Amino acid sequence: MPVTSPRFNHFVREFTRLVDDSSSDETQVLSRGRELLAELVGRDDWLPDLYAQPHPQYYQQYLLHADPQDRFSVVSFVWGPGQKTPIHNHTVWALIGMMRGGERAECFELGLPGQPMQSLGIEDLNPGIVDSLSPRVGDIHRVSNKYDDRVSISVHVYGGNIGRISRHVFDPQTSTRKTFISGYSNEAEISG
Ligand code: FE
Repeated sequence: MPVTSPRFNHFVREFTRLVDDSSSDETQVLSRGRELLAELVGRDDWLPDLYAQPHPQYYQQYLLHADPQDRFSVVSFVWGPGQKTPIHNHTVWALIGMMRGGERAECFELGLPGQPMQSLGIEDLNPGIVDSLSPRVGDIHRVSNKYDDRVSISVHVYGGNIGRISRHVFDPQTSTRKTFISGYSNEAEISG
């Protein structure tokens, strides 16, 4: 089911125009994209319930829009109480817009082979805040629901079709990486 709210359609139109105009200029995409995403998550009245559903065990990633040319994708992340990702990278730029509840992101850098990874610090995101990540400056992190008693929701935009990209999860103790492809929680609906 496509998201049909005027607010979301406006966002997709404007973001498409942005990548049309500046697809190879990451700095420009991130700076204008941040404004567009802040506008989108600034009002929590447009996300269909279908894409706001938590799962008792796993955080959910619902594909809301995929650019036909794979230049960007928009995903709702739905965190059940206390849920978190493994440590992972993206390989493309990312914008993270907080809409409901709160998220905690911890950035990491790799240790020497066999050695532990180093934490680069923790950042809390509250509703209305947009954060960005770029593989040019390091994009390894672990994200968790800030709350252990309620659902949190953020809207992420990535510089590619993120559910189809081969990327990595990391072992914090040994800095060892493993390839993964995340897919989407609404996979059945996407592939029709
Ligand atoms: Fe991430």
